[in-house]
Amino acid sequence: MDSAESSRRPANLVRISVPEDAGPVLQNVAALLAMQIARRCDAKVALAGDAPLKVHLAVEPGTGADGFRIADGPRGTVRISGGDERGVLYGAGRFLRTSSYRSGFTPGTWRGKSAPHCPVRAIYLATHFSNFYEAAPAEEVERYVAELALWGYNTILIHFPTWQFDDIADAGAQGWLDRFTALFARAKQLGLSVGLLQAPNQGYKTTPAELRGAKVPGSRRGNFGVNLCASKPEARRALLRTYEELLDEFTDVGLDYFALWPYDEGGCACERCWPWGARGFLSISRELVGLARARFDGCKTILSTWCFENEDDANPDGEWAGLARAVAEDRSWVDYVMADGHGDYFPKYLLEEGVPGGLPLLNFPEISMFGMTPWGGYGTNPAPAHFQALWNRIKHTAAGGAPYSEGIYEDLNKAVWAQFYWEPERQAEDAVKEYLAYESAPECAEDLLQVVRILESNHRRDHIGPSAAEAFGVVESVDGRLTPQARESWRWRVLYLRALIDRKLFRNEGRLEGEPLKEAFAELTRIYYAENAGPMPLKPPEAK
Ligand SMILES: [Zn+2]
Repeated sequence: MDSAESSRRPANLVRISVPEDAGPVLQNVAALLAMQIARRCDAKVALAGDAPLKVHLAVEPGTGADGFRIADGPRGTVRISGGDERGVLYGAGRFLRTSSYRSGFTPGTWRGKSAPHCPVRAIYLATHFSNFYEAAPAEEVERYVAELALWGYNTILIHFPTWQFDDIADAGAQGWLDRFTALFARAKQLGLSVGLLQAPNQGYKTTPAELRGAKVPGSRRGNFGVNLCASKPEARRALLRTYEELLDEFTDVGLDYFALWPYDEGGCACERCWPWGARGFLSISRELVGLARARFDGCKTILSTWCFENEDDANPDGEWAGLARAVAEDRSWVDYVMADGHGDYFPKYLLEEGVPGGLPLLNFPEISMFGMTPWGGYGTNPAPAHFQALWNRIKHTAAGGAPYSEGIYEDLNKAVWAQFYWEPERQAEDAVKEYLAYESAPECAEDLLQVVRILESNHRRDHIGPSAAEAFGVVESVDGRLTPQARESWRWRVLYLRALIDRKLFRNEGRLEGEPLKEAFAELTRIYYAENAGPMPLKPPEAK
C-alpha cells in the first residue's frame, strides 16, 4: 500500500501541521481547517503529535498569488502549499470540499495546482436593517466570513450606514463600528483584504435641511432623505468631516479598498452637481479618495457606476461620456470601475465602448433580492442558470467583482460567483455540484443538482409548478442518508425548508396557511436571527 492510498481511507485522527516559523495567518488557516473537519465528522483533529493521516500546510513559491498546490507527501501526509498564505487558505478550501465525512474523515483525491484568474474576489455584505450580518452573534458572522473565504473570496466589503445614525458618536454607530472593525480584524487574520463601500454624499439622520441635495429625477434609486449637495460649501465640509471621522475609526485595522457609490443610495441633481455621475460624484469621490489614501497605504479605489444613465433614458445625461472624459484626463485616483444593474440589465455602454480609461472592470451581481420577497423568506434561492447567463456577457473582461449579499440564505449563489472569479470558464452547475457534495454528501450531489434546477425554475412565487413535489421527494430521501452533522447544518435546513415550502405552496395554490408552513418560516427566522429585522423585507412571512 503506498502513501497516497493510505491517505485515502477514512481516518479517525487527523494531524494538521505548519512549519515551525509559520506566521499567524498560516496558523489561523490551520485552525480553520481543523475546525471545519471537526464540525463535519467524528474524526479527532490535532495540531500536534502523530496520526494516521497528516495534512501539512506551507507557503512555497511556484503557484502565484493566491494559488495553491495539493500533493501527496511521505507517510500518509497530504501537503497543501500556497504561493502565499492566502493561497494555503484556498488550497484548504478545495481540500475540504473534495473530502468526505462519513465514518471519519476521508481526504479528497484531487491533486494538482490551481490559481485564480480574477484578482478581486470580493463579497459585499450589506450590514443594515438587522439582517444576519447585523443581528447574528459576532462569532457566527466571523465563522461565516471564514467559510466564504474557503470558496475563494479574498476581500470583504461593507457599508457604514450613516442614515441609521445621528452622528459618529451615536451609541448605535459606535456599536456598529465595534462589531465590524472586529470582523475586519478577524478577516485580516486569515489574510483577507477589507474595504468600505460608501455613497460619498450621504449624511447622518441629523443632516440639516439646508445642506441636503436636490432629488435625483427618473428611475435611479436611493434617497433616505439625507443625501447632501456636494456643491454647497458647508455641505461639502460636513461630508469631509463625516468621512475623516469614519476613516479614522479604521486606522487600527486598515482599509485595502474604498468603493464609492453614485446612487441607490446617493446623488444630487442640483445644477452644479448634475449630471451626478460625471460631475458632483466624481468631484467629491476624488476628494474622499485623498482622505483614504492619506490614511491607508496602497488603499485601492473602486468607482461604482450603479444606476448610471441607461440606453432607455429618453434624455441621456452624459454620465458615461463624462466619466470617460474625466478618467482620460486623470485616472490616477481610480483603480477599478464597478458596473452592473438591477435584474438582467448590464450597461450597454461598457459592452460597446469598453471601460472608461481602460480601467479594469468589476461586477456587482445581485444574488439576494431578485424575484423573491421577503429576501430569503422561503429558504435558499439558488439560480445557477441565471448567473451563468449574466457572467457569460463579461467573463472575458472582468477582473472580478463583489456579489451583493443580504444574508446567508444565498450561500450557494456566493459559491457559484466565487468559482466564476476563480476560473471564468467554470460552469455554474459544476460549482453547485461541488457545493452539494461538500455540504450534504458526495453520493447525493447529482440528485440534489436536479433539486436546485427545480428550485430555480420555481423561483417566482406565482410560478411554482408540480415539480415542487419531485424536489421535496428527493430532499426528503437525501435527508435520511446524511450524517447527523450535515443534516443539522443550517445550509441543509435552508435547502430542505425551501423544497418543503414550495411543495406546500403548490398544493395550497399559493396560500400561506397551515402548521408546516408556520413552523418552516419560524425556523428560517431563527436561522437568520431575523426576529427584529426590518423595515426591508428580511423577515420570513407568517402563515395563518
Ligand atoms: Zn448638488
